[in-house]
Amino acid sequence: MSTLDFDITPNPNPVPAAEREGILADPGWGRHFTDHMVTIRYNEDAGWHDARVEPYGPIALDPASQVLHYAQELFEGLKAYRQPDGSIVTFRPYMNAARMNRSAQRMAMPEIPEDLFVRALEALVEADRDWVPTEEGYSLYLRPFMFATTRLLGVNQPARDYLFMVIASPSGLYYSGGIKPVSVWLSQNYTRAAAGGTGEAKTGGNYASSFAGQAEAVAHGCDQVVWLDAVEHRWVEEVGSMNLMFVYGSGSAARLLTPALTGTLLPGITRDSMLKLAPDLGVPAEEGKISIEEWQAGVESGEITEVFGCGTAAIISPVGEVKGADRQWRIGDGEPGEVSMRLREELIGIQYGTRPDPYGWVH
Ligand code: PMP
Repeated sequence: MSTLDFDITPNPNPVPAAEREGILADPGWGRHFTDHMVTIRYNEDAGWHDARVEPYGPIALDPASQVLHYAQELFEGLKAYRQPDGSIVTFRPYMNAARMNRSAQRMAMPEIPEDLFVRALEALVEADRDWVPTEEGYSLYLRPFMFATTRLLGVNQPARDYLFMVIASPSGLYYSGGIKPVSVWLSQNYTRAAAGGTGEAKTGGNYASSFAGQAEAVAHGCDQVVWLDAVEHRWVEEVGSMNLMFVYGSGSAARLLTPALTGTLLPGITRDSMLKLAPDLGVPAEEGKISIEEWQAGVESGEITEVFGCGTAAIISPVGEVKGADRQWRIGDGEPGEVSMRLREELIGIQYGTRPDPYGWVH
């Protein structure tokens, strides 16, 4: 438990209400930010201290700040959802806190008490509650992150000082105009993560190194990149910044498979939620291993009926077409699959408070 209290400085120049309403009507994704931000400082001697809610704006960094050179950084992502009665909830925020702390261990960074992490989210949402959209399917995306601020170019030790922050950005429908299956590129030139590396940590470097793979996908006419294992380049790991789910069979015989967490995948909170929801909807779910050859053969034999990526931003993103250097296949008929949509509806219902939450996921 942390007893740290937040010092609150309201923004003297908030975005005018009419302008804010205009933004909320069409927020896009990650383009607009709210009136406030949270900052909490850490140093080796004082621990976590100086917690603030303050006006959103630029921060000053020493040019020798360790993060700018050696990338000791990590982040999280989750959303706040408006409920039918006007109240606001977040979804499984303690899972994000726990994941941030696992990332922190890997990056030799300090852990933040889980309750302080969640109170930081609450403090920001409270300050910016008018920024939580009321439009169906919209939400306020919350971005907690932490980075090394020690002025230090010595490379053989981690930093001693860190800044934890939370910023927030209203987000609209991921798929305006209905859910459309995406095409994906099997990346055999670029690898996202290798055993012993940082793949399961949510650290900026993993994303910096993914842009070239994503650009390769786009160059081949695909929407997203599929990450394969680093050794054989044939075991399926993730798609873009989502976990992958494979549906075998259909109707009452449908079952779900997702690549196991081998240390190179990000343990998605949507993934975890799907693994719990699916069996309760009568769809057994397991973690396992699937190669690109098995994926192609499974689709061609009709055994694999649906494939989708899942993550906080899009919830689910059906995969309709797969391309690689020497192979190519289609999945389904261009429409999102039945099991994918059932899981999506169920999860959205829990998040937006239109369905019961037997799991205690909303906070
Ligand atoms: N994999 C990667 C690489 C990601 O960046 C994300 C997004 N955080 C996910 C999977 C999905 O995770 P979550 O369901 O927690 O959003």
